[in-house]
Amino acid sequence: MAELKKKEEPKIGVFVCHCGTNIAGSIDIKAVMEYAKTLPNVAIADDYQYMCSTPGQNKVVEAIEEHKLTGVVVAACSPRLHEPTFRGATKLGGLNPFRFEMANIREQNSWVHMHQPEEATEKAKDAVRIAVAKASLLEDLIPKSVPVEQAAMVVGGGVGGMQAALDLANAGIKTYLIEKEPSIGGRMSQLDKTFPTLDCSQCILTPKMVDVARNENIELLTYTEVEAVEGYIGNFDVTLRKKARGVLTTEEAEARGFVGGGCNGCGDCEDVCPVIRPNPFELGMAPMKAIYVYHPQVSPLLYTIDFDSCVKCNLCVDICGDKKAIDLNAVDEFETVKVGSIILATGYDIFPIEEKHEWGYKNYDNVITSLEFERLICASGPTGGHLIRPSDGAVPKKIAFVLCAGSRDNTGVGKPYCSRFCCMYSLKHAHQIIEKIPGAVPYIFYMDIRSFGKMYEEFYYRIQDEGAKFIRGRVANILEDPVTKNLHVNAEDTLLGRPIDMEVDMVVLAAAVQPSAQTEATRRLFGVSCSQDGWLLEAHPKLNPCGTTTAGVYLAGVCQGPKDIPDTVAQAEGAASAASIPIHRGEVELEPYFAVCLEDICAGCGMCINLCPYQALSLIEKDGRTVMHVTEAKCKGCGTCGGFCPGGAIWMQHFTTPQIVAQIDAFLLGGEQ
Ligand code: FAD
Ligand code: SF4
Ligand code: SF4
Ligand code: SF4
Ligand code: SF4
Ligand code: SF4
Ligand code: SF4
Repeated sequence: MAELKKKEEPKIGVFVCHCGTNIAGSIDIKAVMEYAKTLPNVAIADDYQYMCSTPGQNKVVEAIEEHKLTGVVVAACSPRLHEPTFRGATKLGGLNPFRFEMANIREQNSWVHMHQPEEATEKAKDAVRIAVAKASLLEDLIPKSVPVEQAAMVVGGGVGGMQAALDLANAGIKTYLIEKEPSIGGRMSQLDKTFPTLDCSQCILTPKMVDVARNENIELLTYTEVEAVEGYIGNFDVTLRKKARGVLTTEEAEARGFVGGGCNGCGDCEDVCPVIRPNPFELGMAPMKAIYVYHPQVSPLLYTIDFDSCVKCNLCVDICGDKKAIDLNAVDEFETVKVGSIILATGYDIFPIEEKHEWGYKNYDNVITSLEFERLICASGPTGGHLIRPSDGAVPKKIAFVLCAGSRDNTGVGKPYCSRFCCMYSLKHAHQIIEKIPGAVPYIFYMDIRSFGKMYEEFYYRIQDEGAKFIRGRVANILEDPVTKNLHVNAEDTLLGRPIDMEVDMVVLAAAVQPSAQTEATRRLFGVSCSQDGWLLEAHPKLNPCGTTTAGVYLAGVCQGPKDIPDTVAQAEGAASAASIPIHRGEVELEPYFAVCLEDICAGCGMCINLCPYQALSLIEKDGRTVMHVTEAKCKGCGTCGGFCPGGAIWMQHFTTPQIVAQIDAFLLGGEQ
């Protein structure tokens, strides 16, 4: 049970940070420091330019020893940034690290009250007073060490997820790679060539897919989704839904006693299947059977039945014969696996650009998206790599590329952010039509060309030299000639300052990207935050771009924000490295913010049990009484039970009732308590 009373006389050290002019530019640091000296229990107050620097932290360490401090307050930035730093300094000085409290006078003060220095200074004094009140009641807390499950999980099998899984596996860690589609590969497998090197996308992706499939440490689970997640860093229980595929692997067939059976990818079933539907991999531009593989390079090479369109005619079962690979009665199966850390790499979708009515996508046949362009220009695509107009099959000669289609758009229909790779892939597309179609001219309507990566600007010059025409101006609207199906692109050339009405054969919209469809559900499952535009949120944009606010969960690739393949792979390698740390250390310390039952006053009513979202509470018999018991390993310190208990018999460690009351008093009563 928690110590209810402090036995020692509190002696608090207060340290006020300037953060250069970040804080000192609008807050009178000396006034805050002098004020701190007047507060009850404050033994020393000091200030420093950069408290997180070595000399700044040394001030904390030395003051603890010199003044025999019982608690430390640093008034600086957000605890999200430097609470661990100052906990470390507090510990180095000889105090329990949880004897530390942070007053946020930067993000919640100087940065938002830049032009109100007097009010900001008063607010900083309030923050320091409140922090000192709490610090005076802080107690020693001992973090719990728990062993870490020696396995990791990567969710999403695009190039980012594959890279992360390979890195983890090559570091000797058993890794589950979860992909919702029948094959790994993600968006990159839909691309033809890749900028700026113009490598064939499949040529660089396929060997990686093979490596993943062959790696002994990777358990590849395609056509699988995450159903539920429980636990915490080091000990996640992840329940997976293996969607009914209707086709058995060799191992699954053998497990059913069909030795030598299972799918060998011969494709006979596909030939006989009578059901034809649009192929989602080819974006609806090619047909697909009810039993299918997306393309010959899929990994694993295993057919899948789409039970929404299958009419259960049995033709595939008959032709498959002795291989006995088809099970038309298959149902979803569930499996729970234990992992120590998790990487989310769930990628992106294309913004539904038809919502921008002015460009006529889905109304005019010859307006296509860039991803459709990738499939049409790709040798393995629906037209065998021949770019043709959907309206009449003619080869287009004059093609307009509309950049920032739905990106950098503050109209409310579209995305305010830059999608980051569409300038570059549109340059690539311009090159491809110049290369493939003699006499063809690409016209690129742009706002700015963002060619920020290594060799990207050089690639931009190269495309200019090859003859692409650049027109600076956002396209206002596109109109179709109903007879020729040609398109009139209306824009303003902002460099020449005149309107343009250009007739072209085809328009390619570089549509914005957005988080993939299940991102919100995934975010909730894993307890991860997202930014206001829906991308999964990193723990810190500069200092921890692969981490999240949930310990043990990391991010890789476009799910965190638009980025091209090199940046996706680089982040995936970073995420794999971060995710391997707790696994290699073998144990992690959990922050000791558990609920604590004050058994003396618990009435044993049991009303809090069902409120706990993590099943951490149960009634036990103790000394002839029924009292509440908290299973610390399950408790997440959410505070629900503490807020509810009618008798006040549950406290939250580090946020005890007296500590919170002291903070409220300090705020309401000013310095008069
Ligand atoms: P994705 O490729 O989107 O992969 C995510 C994977 O996660 C998918 O397989 C998806 O099915 C899976 N998934 C999603 N949700 C779940 C879930 N809940 N459970 C399980 N699995 C899930 N970049 C370049 O560098 N060069 C280029 O030339 C280039 N050309 C491009 C052309 C176009 C038209 C477009 C649109 C993009 C282009 N890009 C290019 C960008 C490139 O596509 C991305 O950088 C890359 O695909 C990002 O990989 P990823 O793994 O983060 O995401
Ligand atoms: Fe800036 Fe925070 Fe460092 Fe102070 S401790 S210098 S506020 S980052
Ligand atoms: Fe696989 Fe049987 Fe179809 Fe051949 S016929 S691809 S073995 S399911
Ligand atoms: Fe196609 Fe279904 Fe008939 Fe098999 S049973 S051939 S998948 S429609
Ligand atoms: Fe526009 Fe280029 Fe940014 Fe794409 S990358 S949104 S085309 S500026
Ligand atoms: Fe004890 Fe309060 Fe829970 Fe009732 S609600 S069992 S009094 S902790
Ligand atoms: Fe459950 Fe209470 Fe812990 Fe929340 S604080 S997880 S409700 S025991």
